Amino acid sequence: MDPQPRIHCPLCRWEPGADARWVCTPSEPGAGCGTCWNTFWTAGCCPGCGHFWARTQCHACKRSSPHEAWYHYPAGDGAAPRKEKSLEKAAG
Ligand SMILES: [Zn+2]
Ligand SMILES: [Zn+2]
Repeated sequence: MDPQPRIHCPLCRWEPGADARWVCTPSEPGAGCGTCWNTFWTAGCCPGCGHFWARTQCHACKRSSPHEAWYHYPAGDGAAPRKEKSLEKAAG
């Protein structure tokens, strides 16, 4: 079982419901087809033109944040990725 991340605005903690929709606008280069969809169902990819939205605007505070910043994984469950360090000192 994969841990399901909580999705909410990193700035104001607004949680988009299943009926939340975003519109593909020309605010990013290559986008602007006018498709209306739930951007969290496609990880930020517009189903109309295939543009991957780097930022997602909050419907509550109207500010945009990086799409991945909306995903909050439960902490303390061993699910957090750990960076491997190879700083071994050769003894001898
Ligand atoms: Zn917000
Ligand atoms: Zn589009």
